[in-house]
Amino acid sequence: MTTLRSINPTTGQQIAVYPALSLAESGYIIQATHHAFLEWRRTDFSARSNLLRGAAMVLRQKQTEYARLMAREMGKPVAQGRAEIEKCAWACEYYAEHGPRFLASKPVATDASRSFVTFQPLGVVLAVMPWNFPFWQVFRFAAPNLMAGNSAVLKHASNVSQCALAIEKVFRQAGFPESLFRTLLIGADQVPAVLSNPLVKAVTLTGSTPAGKAIAAQAGSLLKKSVLELGGSDPYVVLADADLEETVNTCVAARLINTGQSCIAAKRFIVVNSVRSNFEELFVRKMRDRSMGDPLEEGIDLGPLARHDLRDELHRQVQLSLEAKGRLLLGGAIPVGPGAFYPPTVLTDVKKGSPAFDEELFGPVAAIVPVKDEAEAIQAANDSNFGLGAAVFTRDTVRGERIAAEEIEAGCCFVNTFVKSDPRLPFGGIKESGYGRELAVFGLREFVNIKTIYVK
Ligand code: NAP
Repeated sequence: MTTLRSINPTTGQQIAVYPALSLAESGYIIQATHHAFLEWRRTDFSARSNLLRGAAMVLRQKQTEYARLMAREMGKPVAQGRAEIEKCAWACEYYAEHGPRFLASKPVATDASRSFVTFQPLGVVLAVMPWNFPFWQVFRFAAPNLMAGNSAVLKHASNVSQCALAIEKVFRQAGFPESLFRTLLIGADQVPAVLSNPLVKAVTLTGSTPAGKAIAAQAGSLLKKSVLELGGSDPYVVLADADLEETVNTCVAARLINTGQSCIAAKRFIVVNSVRSNFEELFVRKMRDRSMGDPLEEGIDLGPLARHDLRDELHRQVQLSLEAKGRLLLGGAIPVGPGAFYPPTVLTDVKKGSPAFDEELFGPVAAIVPVKDEAEAIQAANDSNFGLGAAVFTRDTVRGERIAAEEIEAGCCFVNTFVKSDPRLPFGGIKESGYGRELAVFGLREFVNIKTIYVK
C-alpha cells in the first residue's frame, strides 16, 4: 500500500505519515463531491462570492500558521510563505469580485428572437498539484472553479499532505459545503483510477512535463478536458543597453525565489558579450550575498530544497553541465550537514546540449549563456522545448516590447522585471510547458461548458 510521508527537509526528520486511501475510499469521496456539485451549481453568484471572501478571511487569520507549515513540510522561508498566503487570499477576492461578471450570460445578436452564450459548470474537477507553492497552486485553480460552480478533488504532491489537509479545512471553515472541495490522500499511482471515474469531468495538473504527458494521454483517451501547467526554462535576455545594476538585482531575485524551485524562476541568462563580464561579476557577488538557513527563521533568503532526492538530482545536472564545458563561477558543492541544502550556484558558458540549457534546473542554479547580439539572444531564448515565461532587459522599452510581443516563444514575456503570476493576467505555457490558461477570465473559462442558447 502506498504511504505518503512528510519529511522536514531542513532536518531530514519524518513529521507525518499517511496511508494512502483505498480506491473504494477515493470513490466515496468523489461521489460526495459530485453530490455537492449538484446543489452548488444552483447557488447564485453572490452566495459563491461571499464564501470566497470568507476563504480569504480564513487564510489571512491563519497566515503565519500556514507559512510555518510550508516551512516545515517543504522548506519555504516563512516570509515567502506569508506572501504566498496573501496571494491566495487575493485570488479568492479577485474571483469573488469579478466572477459574476465573467460568468454572466452574453447576448449575441443573430436572427433568433433571443440568442446568448451561457457558462455552465462541468462537475467534479480533479487537480493534481505540486509541492513548490503548496497553497498558491491550489487556490489559483480552486477559486475560479468554485466560483464557476464546479466542485473539486485535490491530489496534492505526496510530500505536502499536511498542506493539502489544511487547504481542505480553509474551505470548510469559510462555510463552503462539506464535500465541495476534498483532498484525496493518494499517490500518483492512483491518479489513473480517479481520472477514469465517470463522475470526474476534467483534470488540471501543475507539475513536471513527464507527469503532464501521462495525464494528457489518459485524459485524451477518455476525452476529458485537461489543463497542463508544466515545467520551464525561462530565458532572461540581457541586452547591451540594459540598466545593469537593476537588471542583476532582478535576475538574482528571479532565480532565487522559493529557493529556485519555481516553474517561472529565471533559469537561463542570455547576456550579450559586450556586458557579459560586468554582468557576471555583479551577478556572482549578489548571488553570494544571499543567506541560506532554517526557513523558520525570519530574514533567511534560501531554505533547503524540498526533498533530498531533488537536491541530488540538481547536483547531478550541475556536474553534467560542467562536463559539457560549462564553467563554475560560484557554488556547486553539496554542503556538509543535515538538510537538503544547495548553495546559490552560477554556471557560465552554458551551451545547448548541456542539462543547464536543455532541462529545467529546479533549484538555486543560474546558467549564463553568452551571445553575440540581439538576434542570437532571441534564437537562444527560443531554442528550448519549454515555453513558459521569459524576460527582456533594455533601456529601450519600445525595443523590449517588440521582442517580448513578437519574437519570444513563451506564454508570457516581461520587460525589465521578473515574471510573476497575477490573478488579473492569464498564466500558462506553450510547447512542453503545457497548454490551457489559469487566472483572469481565461482560467475561469477553461472548465465551463460555453453553451449557445438560440430561441427562434
Ligand atoms: P511532479 O513530480 O510532476 O509532481 C506533480 C504532481 O503530479 C504530484 O502531485 C505528483 O504526485 C503527480 N504526479 C507525478 N507523476 C504523475 C503521473 N505519472 N501521473 C499522475 N500524477 C503524477 O512535479 P513536482 O516535482 O512536484 O513539481 C515540480 C514541477 O512542477 C516542475 O517541473 C515545475 O516547473 C512544475 N511546475 C509548473 C508550474 C506551472 O504553473 N507551469 C507551477 C509549479 C510547478 P506525487 O507527489 O505523489 O508523485
